[in-house]
Amino acid sequence: MINEKRLLDNFLKLVQIDSESFNEAKIHKVLVEELKKLGCIVYVDKSGKKFNTNAAGNIIATLKGKGKGKPFILSAHMDTVCPGVGVKPCVKKDRVTSDGTTILGADDKAGIAIILETLRVLKELKGNHPSVQVIFTLCEEVCITGAKYLDYSKIKGTDGLILDNESSEELIIRGPGKYNFNVAIHGVTAHAGVCPEKGISALDVLSKAMRLMKHGRVDKETVCNFGVISGGRITNAVLSELTLKGEVRSLNAKKLEKQIKHMKDCFAKAEKAFVKKVDGKTIQPKIEIETELSYGAQNISKTSTSVKLTIAAARKHGVNLKAIVCGGGCDANVMAQHGLALPNLGIGVEKCHSLDEYLSLPDFYRAARIVVDTVLSYRG
Ligand SMILES: [Zn+2]
Repeated sequence: MINEKRLLDNFLKLVQIDSESFNEAKIHKVLVEELKKLGCIVYVDKSGKKFNTNAAGNIIATLKGKGKGKPFILSAHMDTVCPGVGVKPCVKKDRVTSDGTTILGADDKAGIAIILETLRVLKELKGNHPSVQVIFTLCEEVCITGAKYLDYSKIKGTDGLILDNESSEELIIRGPGKYNFNVAIHGVTAHAGVCPEKGISALDVLSKAMRLMKHGRVDKETVCNFGVISGGRITNAVLSELTLKGEVRSLNAKKLEKQIKHMKDCFAKAEKAFVKKVDGKTIQPKIEIETELSYGAQNISKTSTSVKLTIAAARKHGVNLKAIVCGGGCDANVMAQHGLALPNLGIGVEKCHSLDEYLSLPDFYRAARIVVDTVLSYRG
């Protein structure tokens, strides 16, 4: 029932509208108009100003269907990573690429195009379909910001799909929650040549903490990484300041909190280990730790409505869809904290966030068919 040419043409149009994160105003306008033309009731939340993007807010659009059941949710994000200005798509046999100087932006314009095509197919059914609620978010690529500010009071459904994954044979049902952290270690400086014993090296304190701490692969569900470290200006002074940035991810909310507590305990022990007296005065290092929950975990049951319906629809199109765990986060993680069970379906995008990004057309068309059939099989 989908129209491949119409779907592809629309995709090519969308990728040529610049929409790097924080600059989504143009695509925002096009999508609002398009959704209205398709007969949707369109609501734009007022979130844009809260995180300084030039678009007004996330888009929530409802296409009424028959019956009083809950709407089925379809969601994709409007922004792209850089370099995403002036995309020139090239159609080559069974795939679409950029001209090599930019990303393609199929992440996530392919998802948007499939959602618009689904609405077109539904419109042709003249109301003989379930209600659908579309969510187009802003700034997903920057810490999933748009979804964090989405006006959830307007969301009437709980089941649905996010279209923001690569392989069209995969459905992400679990993803980790994530903490970001910053650590500042304040040691005590002293002349490195004359009296190093009067100082406390921030590096020694860090080494002690790291020896006590589980990091890297913490357990099957949890990882912890120190990715950025900086400090020191001169070689002839005991290193007094070090700053570190890192992240903890876990599929399990309790383990996520446990790891943060464990790290704080290790740093506290390291602080105590270096207390000493110098010239009659007690000196000690000081460690400051800031943590921020970036997003919670996504954990959708294999027997949830959306997963079952999507797998069944995929089977009709010859795909044995695999329900998988993903190491990254997306809108689904944030939406899960608001009670939405939205597995993330692959839409045929490959090598996203690179100049080699491309869209596999057979996979893209098939994903669109799977989405249409999933929606039509939903009973609210
Ligand atoms: Zn994406």
